Amino acid sequence: MTIQTTNPFTNKTVKSFKEMTETAVEGKVAKAQEAFTHWKETTYQHRADLLHKVATLMRVKKSELAQTITLEMGKILSQAEGEIDLSADIFDYYANHGEKFLADKVLDPEYGTALIRNSPIGVLLGVMPWNFPFYQVARFVAPNIMVGNTILLKHASIVPQCAAALEELFAEAEAPEGLYTNLFISGKRASALVSDKRIKGVSLTGSEEAGASIAIEAGKYLKKVVLELGGNDVFIILEDADMDKTVEWAVVGRMNNNGQCCVASKRFIAVEAIADTFIKKFKDALSKMKVGDPMDPDTELGPLSSEEAAVELADQVKRSVDQGAKVLLGGKRADREGAFMEPTILTNLKPGIAAYHEELFGPVASFYVVKDEEAAIALANDSDFGLGASVFTQDIERGKRIADQIDAGMVFINHPTWTQADLPFGGTKRSGFGRELSELGIHEFVNKKLIRVS
Ligand code: NAP
Repeated sequence: MTIQTTNPFTNKTVKSFKEMTETAVEGKVAKAQEAFTHWKETTYQHRADLLHKVATLMRVKKSELAQTITLEMGKILSQAEGEIDLSADIFDYYANHGEKFLADKVLDPEYGTALIRNSPIGVLLGVMPWNFPFYQVARFVAPNIMVGNTILLKHASIVPQCAAALEELFAEAEAPEGLYTNLFISGKRASALVSDKRIKGVSLTGSEEAGASIAIEAGKYLKKVVLELGGNDVFIILEDADMDKTVEWAVVGRMNNNGQCCVASKRFIAVEAIADTFIKKFKDALSKMKVGDPMDPDTELGPLSSEEAAVELADQVKRSVDQGAKVLLGGKRADREGAFMEPTILTNLKPGIAAYHEELFGPVASFYVVKDEEAAIALANDSDFGLGASVFTQDIERGKRIADQIDAGMVFINHPTWTQADLPFGGTKRSGFGRELSELGIHEFVNKKLIRVS
């Protein structure tokens, strides 16, 4: 397998890394286990101090870390800087609130007295994707370090310098050896590692295939697992939406991170009354996007994360067109070096067409026109995924009513699906299970121990 940095703007490989041997991995798992025996005895204050230190270091090194993100996966530099800020906020958030979230819960049983105490469970394995190389790690690691667990992290093979930089941040913050450990191994080896007795839980963010592979092992060895998988979020536009603001958010919702967010707005559903107005403005905005070097501050849309990702997306579009979809804008690879895809809008989508069912992980929007609100909800729910959704209307009560009827983990009114430290994140159906961030995210890998006194 290859663990390497390939700049998707040029498709040139700039640095390669060696996969770790079995002996090296065994040594690292043993260190993580040893670190757990000490870390679980530390105070919440001690853990919070470490998280604050990591957050501070992230902010100090923001520019350097953001450039590494952009080099390895092509995110626009200003968005990479935003990702570092968000990641540091997540570390601070759990440092500030973790102890309160984990406090004993006193029960009121019929007999005797009782309480629930939250205890750490041990070494955890994280398997993370490249699309937000710092944020995805932060939202898994920060709460669990606060709990008292220790972490082994297998990052995506195309962001090894980000993976190494994360481990380096912990070393610089003087974290004990074994508290946070980067593993340069393949996905297959990460799945196999789940069987190790010392590993007590596993969290994966990524594709359905990788999630299923981890879940099979977790099931076989009876380990707790959290899965954050793909999405095909709807962006519903009702007749009373504020059209100019809605179009602005539609562009951000689809094109943020060069179109590669699990919670990107992917299916745009407009009711008949305003469909023409919306699509005209949306198409106009997408066609004017400045495509180019993600390091250039004027660029609005960069490359996909890799040549393979661009080839796969172009193939999904081609298959969809062969099956009857129509191209309203773009539709092919951009005529330039690098992993680029043109901003694209597909229409005439029906069940049986690839783009109707599959997640399109890049700058390709699917556009649907429906008769009314009821039809919009039915179409929204006709998906195997259930991650996020958004509804645009000036009638907030109507928006909430629609939110109730959408089968998704998160519904945003008048905003694309988004994330911040104090809001829970996660999906239903094939988008996975479990929650990250907010108070919910800290309770995934704890032993909720009952202590009862007679
Ligand atoms: P991916 O191929 O599944 O990779 C994610 C991670 O899983 C990588 O570290 C990868 O390692 C590893 N992996 C691959 N195959 C594995 C296996 N058989 N067993 C164990 N680990 C394995 O996903 P991706 O293409 O990088 O990311 C895009 C997907 O992630 C999209 O579907 C997106 O929607 C989803 N995602 C979901 C969320 C969420 O919160 N719900 C957030 C972001 C992204 P290698 O790199 O070495 O293959």
